[in-house]
Amino acid sequence: MDFSQLPQPSERNIAIHVTAAAERSLRGGHPWLYDNSIREQSKDGQAGDIGVIFDKKRHFLAVGLYDPDSPIRVKILQHKTSASIGHDFFRTRLQAAAQIRAHLPDDGTTGYRFVHGENDTLPSLVIDRYGAVLVVKLYSAAWFAHLRELLSALDDIHPAKTIVLRLSRAVQDGETFGLSDGMVIRGKLSESKVAFTENKLRFVADVIRGHKTGFFFDQRENRQRAMTLSATKNVLDVFSYNGGFSLYAAAGGAKSVLSVDISQPALRDARQLFELNANHTNIANCQHETMAADAFEALRQLASQRRKFGLVVVDPPSFANKASQIEDALRAYRKLTALALPLVEKGGTLVMASCSSRIAPDDFFATVHHTAQRHHYRLHEIERTSHAIDHPLRESFPEGRYLKCLFATVD
Ligand code: SAH
Repeated sequence: MDFSQLPQPSERNIAIHVTAAAERSLRGGHPWLYDNSIREQSKDGQAGDIGVIFDKKRHFLAVGLYDPDSPIRVKILQHKTSASIGHDFFRTRLQAAAQIRAHLPDDGTTGYRFVHGENDTLPSLVIDRYGAVLVVKLYSAAWFAHLRELLSALDDIHPAKTIVLRLSRAVQDGETFGLSDGMVIRGKLSESKVAFTENKLRFVADVIRGHKTGFFFDQRENRQRAMTLSATKNVLDVFSYNGGFSLYAAAGGAKSVLSVDISQPALRDARQLFELNANHTNIANCQHETMAADAFEALRQLASQRRKFGLVVVDPPSFANKASQIEDALRAYRKLTALALPLVEKGGTLVMASCSSRIAPDDFFATVHHTAQRHHYRLHEIERTSHAIDHPLRESFPEGRYLKCLFATVD
């Protein structure tokens, strides 16, 4: 791969002095420094320059990647003690990330998140493993200047024959130094769909064009929980994408599964997933149907047909990434809850998920409960859950706690 156009990180760091509020936030370990928290900086910087942040008394606070195009001006790589950012630094970080996930392949899982950005103290960076393929996704142009060193560190920890590069929308819109979204930057990929396993179930994902990097690994443990609740049931999987929850439900012994999504290609993938796993007796015996429709419409239609399901999973896309979208998102969750409840048979289970980063877990859970009460349903909580283990949480980074999921029995 030709990386010759990639920029070199500047030899001179940028010294940055910040407001008292930002000082407190950085002392608390928060990984972002906003542009409006900067009081003074030693020079203008390029994306990928190293920003070194000092407190009022000129003591070191944190070091990170400078990003002039983002309101999150510095993405913090390390707090409290200084660090030289390069191969060895990345190696140590990747080693720590690898350790957290080390047990997953032994459980029959070869598709998982290898690096989860801020939560693995590598901000704006995601690395997902799909079997033999690694997908590196950059959410900030600041990474271009460090890509070579990052990849060489990755070779030390998890050598891969094939590496795919994905770029976030914002990164695609700027200078990309001869690289592009979906580019195979190492090895070859005969087709964009890559095979991997999750808990011994077979999956494929389109790592070149799929949402995020191709699959939603964050729901793995929730899918496993849904599996244990599926035996002999008719299951409805709303916003099914390529059928993650649907397949687990079938593996758990569901009598039938109906996958609903607005995307025809996603549903075609879901049908193929069932074929791919036809060697699994439960999956072969499960009656799988798909329905391409707007979820709100589909739920209304199923209710008008008086259909009932023993397990209903509702896992919509994010409704709120900005503060201004919070009210609309809560309204959408109320509507989905109200539409899903009449479809759950008495004593059946409702699984409601939210991946909207701006909706706090307590607000989401309260919204589901209030809606149930208003419509005279009793919810008995089984569990409130969050991300799978490969999406670690950090106390100091509440913004990273985006996934929340409620499992409840409905009376
Ligand atoms: N449950 C999935 C992930 C869901 S992602 C999993 O476990 O992997 C969200 C999905 O919602 C996408 O597949 C998208 O196509 C679908 N979607 C978005 N808006 C929709 C709508 N109005 N009606 C139905 N599906 C929709």
